[in-house]
Amino acid sequence: MNRSESYALFRVSLCAVMAVVACVALLVVVQVAHAAPATVVYSGSRDQPRIALTFDDNFNATRAQAVLEALRRTQTPATMFVTGSYVAGIPELTASLARGDFEIADHSMSHPDLTRLSWSGLLYEIGGGTRTFTALTGVRTAPLIRPPYGATNALVAEAAGHNGFLYVVNWDIDTRDWTGRSADGIVRHVLDNAHNGAIVLMHLSAAHTYEAVPRIVEGLRSQGYELVTVSRLLKGDRRFLDTVSGGAVGTAIGRLVDAGIMSGYNEDYFGPEDGITRAQTAKVMVQLAGLHTEEVERVADRTFMDVPPQRGADGSWLSFPFDYVEEAAAAGLVQGRFDDQGRRIFEPYVQMTRLQMARILARMAREVKGYGDEAADFGPTFGDVPRDARADVGVAAGFGLMTGYTDGTFRPYELATRAQVAVVACRFIDLPRFSDMGIMD
Ligand SMILES: [Zn+2]
Repeated sequence: MNRSESYALFRVSLCAVMAVVACVALLVVVQVAHAAPATVVYSGSRDQPRIALTFDDNFNATRAQAVLEALRRTQTPATMFVTGSYVAGIPELTASLARGDFEIADHSMSHPDLTRLSWSGLLYEIGGGTRTFTALTGVRTAPLIRPPYGATNALVAEAAGHNGFLYVVNWDIDTRDWTGRSADGIVRHVLDNAHNGAIVLMHLSAAHTYEAVPRIVEGLRSQGYELVTVSRLLKGDRRFLDTVSGGAVGTAIGRLVDAGIMSGYNEDYFGPEDGITRAQTAKVMVQLAGLHTEEVERVADRTFMDVPPQRGADGSWLSFPFDYVEEAAAAGLVQGRFDDQGRRIFEPYVQMTRLQMARILARMAREVKGYGDEAADFGPTFGDVPRDARADVGVAAGFGLMTGYTDGTFRPYELATRAQVAVVACRFIDLPRFSDMGIMD
């Protein structure tokens, strides 16, 4: 076969690949959806014997510490709904809340009745507790809000969704412990009303709650209940609370997590709409390309000034970010740039844009899947993509690895999300190798 015949066949085979991947690509319009209102819940699934103990009102340090101590002693997971003004005002209690396996969720900035606030008031109050908590401790919080007094309505749920909250969490077992009720009264109320999926309302600063907690824990466990956080209760059998099971995005995330290429922040949250750093993307791509090796190489000869090799606590070299970024650079998947002093930098903690992702994918299609340089001018062009990047975006779009928007734009400088990276990674896995297309050359 001469070169021009070979090239013609190459074009035909590209069309065949495109036809296959176009079907896949059509299934997913990667677009940031307008945030849906948070879902208001009073309990979890009735199918499993699980109960969530929840605690509000972190304003009395002595009483709250006694409750935390009781929970730690009995190794009981629980969800704490914190109020921002107290988080900031009682730092020793905040530090204690951060040291434990407690789930930290929101109870507003200053504990108002949310149903009486304006839209701008709602946006300020909702998330004030978790925002303050993370600012002071660095601890990741859960996108759950307990409205003060349990007062909620459609506007509160909408504002909660707007601020990134998934659930407005009320309760279906109210201990009324804040009235000063005795430990006996609290314990009896919970044990008498216990049922699958219950959410129990208690208060860190109530007088007798710390005495009631160990007896409630023992009583519920002896009745066969598992005590869980609210996130775990609401998640049920789903993989993550913040991803939809099934569908192209949920399936892609599931595949990558199963393959060990991406992981959630913890067992409950994946963060699909969060951005992803350039270093994290390099790690995903190196694993996709099958380029990662256990050994950390090139520590004496690093490529990027801003990605030095680092040692772990035991003195051994850490793979992330250094080794992954080096492997990506060695394979030509990432290049970084030169700073104004002529040093080569990678900017590992800067968020990845769609354009940067397209360029990496184009290189991977050429180098890893073997499509070579001839794929360069293959795909569609987008008016909003800079001229020198059009070939790469054309390859990424032509192979259906990334798609443009319905208005004909590519939006190159929009940040790529973790969900988008999962989706394009799966498309890349499913892209046949050029050598498997039945073409000899
Ligand atoms: Zn409260």
